[in-house]
Amino acid sequence: MPREFEDTKVIIGAIDGVHVWPVSNHKDLRGRLFKVYTDGPHPSFPENFETFEHFFTESKEGVFRGMHFQGAPHAATKVISIVRGEALDFLLDTRKDSKTFAHVQTQALNQDSPVSIYIPEGVAHGYIALREGTIVSYRQNVAFCESCDGGINGSIVENLLPIPLKETIRSERDLHLKEFASFSYTSKCSQ
Ligand SMILES: [Zn+2]
Repeated sequence: MPREFEDTKVIIGAIDGVHVWPVSNHKDLRGRLFKVYTDGPHPSFPENFETFEHFFTESKEGVFRGMHFQGAPHAATKVISIVRGEALDFLLDTRKDSKTFAHVQTQALNQDSPVSIYIPEGVAHGYIALREGTIVSYRQNVAFCESCDGGINGSIVENLLPIPLKETIRSERDLHLKEFASFSYTSKCSQ
């Protein structure tokens, strides 16, 4: 869990349009069955969502991924779910017209009490894996577009991490993402 909330550079709080719900988790002598979301008349979240692609990330303990989003004209919404292990998840509202702009929402992810998160367009996502082999499922409503792939440096949540950001394992790309304060999104895609 977060080590400290003092001196953070961000506003901690719920982000408008984000939905979090518990995943039904049925255990028996064989193992378990867990349902990450349901559509239909009693949906897990009150938004239209169709999966275009479904992928997983598997992470070593101490890996930090993020903060990532895919912006216009190929903006993506996502549903993420914890499959195995434990992580601390971060959401950052980058929508300037949002009443929760610059808010950060945190969510514990744990295989023993799993949740899914609906992440709307314009909300960046990242997490730190707290257990070896942590697996997170991502459903996305559009194809990946490299030219619309946006990212903000994980330093935005460094005061919320259980270990120092410099001790986390990050990709070269994530290490060089711009700070939120100097970030502005542009896409190389034509509309
Ligand atoms: Zn694009």
